[in-house]
Amino acid sequence: MEAVRSVGTFVVVGGGIAGVTCAEQLAVNFPEEDILLVTASPVIKAVTNFKQVSKVLEEFEVEEQPSIVLENRFPNIKVIESGVKQLKSEEHCIYTEDGHQHVYKKLCLCAGAKPKLICEGNPYVLGIRDTDSAQEFQKQLTKAKRIMIVGNGGIALELVEHPPHWAPEYRVAVLRYEIEGCEVIWAIKDKAIGNTFFDAGAAEFLTSKLMSEKSEAKIAHRRTIYTVEGAERENRTKAKADNVGSALGPDWHGGLDLKGTEEFSHNIHIETRCEVKKIYLQEEFRIMKKKPLAFPKDQHKSVTVDKEMWPVYVELTNGKIYGCDFLVSATGVTPNVYPFLLGNNFDLGEDGGLKVDDQMRTSLPDIYAAGDICTACWQPSPVWQQMRLWTQARQMGWYAAKCMAAASLGHSIDMDFSFELFAHVTKFFNYKVVLLGKYNAQGLGSDHELMLRCTKGQEYVKVVMQNGRMMGAVLIGETDLEETFENLILNQMDLSSYGEDLLDPNIDIEDYFD
Ligand code: FAD
Repeated sequence: MEAVRSVGTFVVVGGGIAGVTCAEQLAVNFPEEDILLVTASPVIKAVTNFKQVSKVLEEFEVEEQPSIVLENRFPNIKVIESGVKQLKSEEHCIYTEDGHQHVYKKLCLCAGAKPKLICEGNPYVLGIRDTDSAQEFQKQLTKAKRIMIVGNGGIALELVEHPPHWAPEYRVAVLRYEIEGCEVIWAIKDKAIGNTFFDAGAAEFLTSKLMSEKSEAKIAHRRTIYTVEGAERENRTKAKADNVGSALGPDWHGGLDLKGTEEFSHNIHIETRCEVKKIYLQEEFRIMKKKPLAFPKDQHKSVTVDKEMWPVYVELTNGKIYGCDFLVSATGVTPNVYPFLLGNNFDLGEDGGLKVDDQMRTSLPDIYAAGDICTACWQPSPVWQQMRLWTQARQMGWYAAKCMAAASLGHSIDMDFSFELFAHVTKFFNYKVVLLGKYNAQGLGSDHELMLRCTKGQEYVKVVMQNGRMMGAVLIGETDLEETFENLILNQMDLSSYGEDLLDPNIDIEDYFD
């Protein structure tokens, strides 16, 4: 086949949320231009049912679609289903696996990220990234009696919980172990689950269903307005040193029984404060004569030695060894930069992403980046941080297109408003969860205060205050507070005089600030 050399003004790489949004926005801005979208996957990801919930909060669903659907919606978008194998930035040209070359005036790289596996090349270690890997997970799960999940971010959380809000492609896979009763050992390096999103109190609120009856009884009927101050500051500082987000004060901990060692449900066992030390295949393990532990079904009984043979054994840093059918590595992601680095001197962030400035430009001329592949290197607003989520992939893709359009017309534009405040809405354990600003007091040092209100099974409200200003909030359940709190964080009003009234359930806070 003869190599084709196409020449276009705008080329976007990646058919995920960032790339598709970027291509769509360019297509709208330049109806006379052909926009080239080059992607390695046979389907593209589309944003559907988009809803602007408030100024910054947005809700949408993600759907996989054949690329023809996108081409039909935007006749000036042409999708090329082939991976980029090389970028020659000096020639302004990309080379694709199908042997073709595409010359660009402006390029946006949106190749996403891939799961960071705790070990490469081991067939018993799975990472979940896309439909293919989710299907592989499902296939393995149908035969599994016990699996181990390693990691404590969003993916691990969603693997463990009931997944009604999961993207359809992952949903079936995750439901199965609930149905088939597969044992799950969940190994996390922190002392509480979901460290990326929650402090220990929120985690406890969310997982009360997973816990023993004893703890259930302890958190029943609790409605608290709680301020961390005075002597409790010590506790907070300690928590910071442990890097587990903000502590909630001794009263709160006492009420919730945050022992943080082992929690039990019928088929989920959590090993906290540990990492994977070594993985052994069955044969290798047999020779070593080490003793694996049986699944700890009852915390009051001592754990016994496992007599069963497993395909793979995992030794944790706390000394415990468990056998299982396979492991799911959910320990974060690595930006997909590899094919673009060959021969190109990109500046990279600490997390390995392509550094981008406030116009989404990488360090190389005419090359932009958006979504999971990039590392935001502008001076951020004090209440925004980058997190590799759908919302930010969409916002970055949209804004990158705006920047590319402006630059090609010789203009520059102001940073988009969506980067003023970190805002994410999701569902965990069937509760609506809204995260705003520095919701976990990220980077605020020790001079911040927390205020809490919690009604078991109904709502959990936490606000992070600094110098009388609201810096962040976690809202779980139907609290109806998101818009008011979003405004309070954005306008940085001095709230010192309101004290605990801020969370008083008998005060209609919205009226207060109208
Ligand atoms: P991606 O969606 O990864 O898309 C990258 C695209 O680039 C793909 O089309 C790929 O084929 C293409 N590509 C890669 N390399 C090349 C190449 N060399 N040449 C051409 N094309 C290439 N976020 C949420 O907000 N909520 C959730 O509930 C949620 N759940 C998640 C569950 C899982 C299992 C995972 C893995 C992530 C989840 N995330 C979630 C994170 C979210 O999926 C990502 O932040 C988001 O998809 C990033 O979008 P992106 O467009 O940057 O990259």
